[in-house]
Amino acid sequence: MAVTIVVFAFLASTISTLAEKVTLNDVLFSGGYEFIDLTHPYDNNTVYWPGHQKFTFTKKIENIQEDKSWYAAKEFSAAEHGGTHLDAPYHFLQTGDYVGDIPLEKLIVPLIIVDVSSIANDDANFVLYKHHLDYLLNYNSGQPCILIFKFGWSKYFHDRNKYLGIGIDQKSLNFPGLSVEVAQWITTSYKNVVGIGVDVASVDPGSVKELAVHKILSRAGLYNMENVKLDRAIPDHGCTALVMPMKIAAGTGAPLRLVAICPKPKPDNF
Ligand SMILES: [Zn+2]
Repeated sequence: MAVTIVVFAFLASTISTLAEKVTLNDVLFSGGYEFIDLTHPYDNNTVYWPGHQKFTFTKKIENIQEDKSWYAAKEFSAAEHGGTHLDAPYHFLQTGDYVGDIPLEKLIVPLIIVDVSSIANDDANFVLYKHHLDYLLNYNSGQPCILIFKFGWSKYFHDRNKYLGIGIDQKSLNFPGLSVEVAQWITTSYKNVVGIGVDVASVDPGSVKELAVHKILSRAGLYNMENVKLDRAIPDHGCTALVMPMKIAAGTGAPLRLVAICPKPKPDNF
């Protein structure tokens, strides 16, 4: 009996020692995970909101020095709200957090993808309602998380007129978005959701003038991610998001590098 107890005690201490030695690096670089970039690049083709300054290199030095060595340096300027970017709560709430205030605990979080692209079916007038999302209830584990809605719009990002649905008047916009109903439902029923992303230019549908969804999400303390690049398959849950905006201290928004760390699909055993 005494021997059995000693053996169990030895096994227990060995297992706990092994468990302590497993680091996040061991998990991430085990070969079982992949890093997926959900970010559009910043260049001449990056989509900005009408009237906002596009991404521009204001200064370029690229030359060979007298000692034959190469030297290159550039300066850029751009509006906060263009390309893949983050909206801070301050964007629509005077007392809300600036970009630089958002804590890392809200920026490295589980990621849930809500793929409604087959329901949206390329319809620029599509608006997402609560009844499209009922299955999400199954994933409400209580952990902090972000939701990213896929309308299937990233494929148009290279064509600004199509992506924004710019009308012949050159002023009106038309692309899918969330309804007020969905924004209210998320902020009241899912207190663990810290941010909302979309693969279109705004969380509000393009055709609306009153940006009600922005206001509801800001007032609840959520941040938004707009123009998310979703042009490949990605698991709808089980990924971790790295939401890394440029840390503009008093920013209402900022360029965003958005990455998902996802378990690789298991190969079929056939
Ligand atoms: Zn924005």
